[in-house]
Amino acid sequence: MKINIIGGGPAGLYFAILMKKADAAHQIRIFERNGPNDTFGWGVVFSGKTLANLRAADDVSHAEITREFEAWDNVDVVHRDAKISIHGNSFSGIARLQLLKILQRRAEQLGVEILFHSEIQDVESLRKDCDLLLAADGVNSTVRLRYAPQFQPELDVRANRYIWYGTQQLFHGLTLTFRENSAGVFAAHSYKFSPTTSTFIVECDPQTWAGAGFEQMGSDETLDYLGEVFSQDLNGHKLLSNNSKWINFLLVKNKNWFFENVVLIGDALHTAHFSIGSGTKLAIEDAIALAESFQQTTNVSDALMHFEKTRRPVIEDYQAAAFESMRWFENAGEYMHLSPIELAYVLMTRSGRVSYEDLKRRDAAFIRQYELSHGLHG
Ligand SMILES: Cc1cc2nc3c(=O)[nH]c(=O)nc-3n(C[C@H](O)[C@H](O)[C@H](O)COP(=O)(O)OP(=O)(O)OC[C@H]3O[C@@H](n4cnc5c(N)ncnc54)[C@H](O)[C@@H]3O)c2cc1C
Repeated sequence: MKINIIGGGPAGLYFAILMKKADAAHQIRIFERNGPNDTFGWGVVFSGKTLANLRAADDVSHAEITREFEAWDNVDVVHRDAKISIHGNSFSGIARLQLLKILQRRAEQLGVEILFHSEIQDVESLRKDCDLLLAADGVNSTVRLRYAPQFQPELDVRANRYIWYGTQQLFHGLTLTFRENSAGVFAAHSYKFSPTTSTFIVECDPQTWAGAGFEQMGSDETLDYLGEVFSQDLNGHKLLSNNSKWINFLLVKNKNWFFENVVLIGDALHTAHFSIGSGTKLAIEDAIALAESFQQTTNVSDALMHFEKTRRPVIEDYQAAAFESMRWFENAGEYMHLSPIELAYVLMTRSGRVSYEDLKRRDAAFIRQYELSHGLHG
């Protein structure tokens, strides 16, 4: 089979690896507009369950990924200068660039051709020139736009703003920090992803954003302002920019996932708010599901139909949980009157996917502390 892939992010690379592993005769080309060492952002997170899926799909890249990653089992909630830790949550972080390098190497070893610095504008020519065109071209997908009447995308630009920084302050766990000033409430999502660096994403609502005056500020001033807001948490370390800019989260859904020989995958197909840390996981698991569909049948239409049929319910379930989580952060200001322990409990259960019983199983001491604070215990 001749497969053209637009986008050499996690989704495109992983699908190429699995297809080439399944049949070395497939001719697979990936067109990637960036160079092999360019990337945006800092680190990405995987759950323990995702790592098990990666091992089952390709133990070679799994071994390399787990050699590089930083693991932890706690979510920390920081509010009013108090830190509450909730254990029993298995996560790991890896630099996005590191992950891409591992997947690029693995794909090239298997014989996948990666054409860097190749930005595709003429999608239709590429589509006609292959049996399968995989649109793994990210959240602002050119392919999705080109065939919008076929895919019928639903794009929802959310009101909150966020900005993705790094820092050398190490956060040993997924840390959610809340700080308030006269402009409003700022939430930081941070976690260590290498021995020296953490991701540090700051999010705020539009009123806070306007009140702080970010519209008039340059990059350095914004960095200094936020460094000041989180000075106690950064412990003297600076925030680090990687061309970091304020973004509105874009919620992506598509009525149709494929047509003829073109299929959307990863962020081009769907997004889930970063507060549940699932974008890379979903992109890679899409690739696994699609490659499995080609194990069922070599007929392209049947395989794409199988992919959508089996994968859509999983994605809808995730997007529903991520939506609840996103809404929570959009309304974070309403929860600031809660005590740190109450806030931690409400946060842990915000998506509807983690229950009281789950938390009790994961971290009985946390639940005891929560119940004591409510006079429900002893
Ligand atoms: C602030 C923030 C925090 C995040 N945190 C996490 C996290 O903690 N954990 C997590 O798992 N995920 C996280 N994500 C999400 C993650 O970055 C993406 O969800 C994931 O990378 C999606 O993979 P993808 O392969 O679908 O797309 P991408 O990784 O976006 O890859 C698409 C690729 O296509 C290329 N491309 C686009 N258009 C063209 C074209 N026309 N021609 C050629 N190439 C093209 C791009 O250069 C890019 O390399 C976060 C995202 C953001 C914005």
